[in-house]
Amino acid sequence: MSCPVIYTDLDGTLLDHDTYGLDRAGPVLQAILARGIPVIPVTSKTQAEVQLLCQGLEINGPFVVENGAAIWVPQTWGLSRPTGSATAAGYWCHVLGKSRGYIRGLLAGLAGEWSGRFHALSDMSVRQVCAVTGLDEFSARRAQARHYSEALLWLGSATDRMGFVQATAELGLQVVEGGRFLHVLAGGGKGTAMRWLHQKICRDLYADAISIAAGDANNDLELLEAADHALVVRSPVHEPPKPHNHPKLYISRLEGPAGWAEGIQHIIKVIDQEKGHGRFLSERQHHYAAQSG
Ligand SMILES: [Mg+2]
Repeated sequence: MSCPVIYTDLDGTLLDHDTYGLDRAGPVLQAILARGIPVIPVTSKTQAEVQLLCQGLEINGPFVVENGAAIWVPQTWGLSRPTGSATAAGYWCHVLGKSRGYIRGLLAGLAGEWSGRFHALSDMSVRQVCAVTGLDEFSARRAQARHYSEALLWLGSATDRMGFVQATAELGLQVVEGGRFLHVLAGGGKGTAMRWLHQKICRDLYADAISIAAGDANNDLELLEAADHALVVRSPVHEPPKPHNHPKLYISRLEGPAGWAEGIQHIIKVIDQEKGHGRFLSERQHHYAAQSG
């Protein structure tokens, strides 16, 4: 069965960059979920953060955490559990990245040369995390609970940051620039995780599922480029990312959650029209076939 599946970034896309609220996306999200269209968060946030958020938003399906280093799927959602995946609290977890301990081990080798120029989120006090992110204490602790990536606050110059990214790449690590942090991972990525999950959804649930990706920043480029439909949500704080030659790209006029609502409504309408058109064509073809027979 054909079904749209929405893969969405959270901060700055579905959620407001400053308040972390749904804003004007709320009613559209409710309508989308009521139609049975899966909304799958793909985010730099942790499992602890996203699971709680999903409960609040009544999103009951899978989610992708830590910039695509791990995928969490409810065991009752209808996807077969891959061998070797861990289970916890009614979910199974497919891990694409290496552990945070492995990443920290490699980063320790850079600490001398780049001393004083980055501060790992997990090394900060809860109070420091609150100050940097604007989160409350409980949310800050959940943000620190990383398993397959390390988030770094960059304190040096922009030129130094380029050198640091290069040095980490030489160690085989990936650096993704998020809204507030540099995220370091060793395997996975938002696009890689989305492709893996979407293939599984096509195989186990909806044979011709249509993927829609929504994002507001450069760390969403890989995600946007991997999807059938791409929604770039405008940001109040930076330029929109520019997916390369995407055939079905929509850039919102509005910013943040309001732009998410605008863009998702537009894309779902396009998909509904295409489906309607397809039905019309097949009915007409059927009619001609009946006449000629
Ligand atoms: Mg974002």
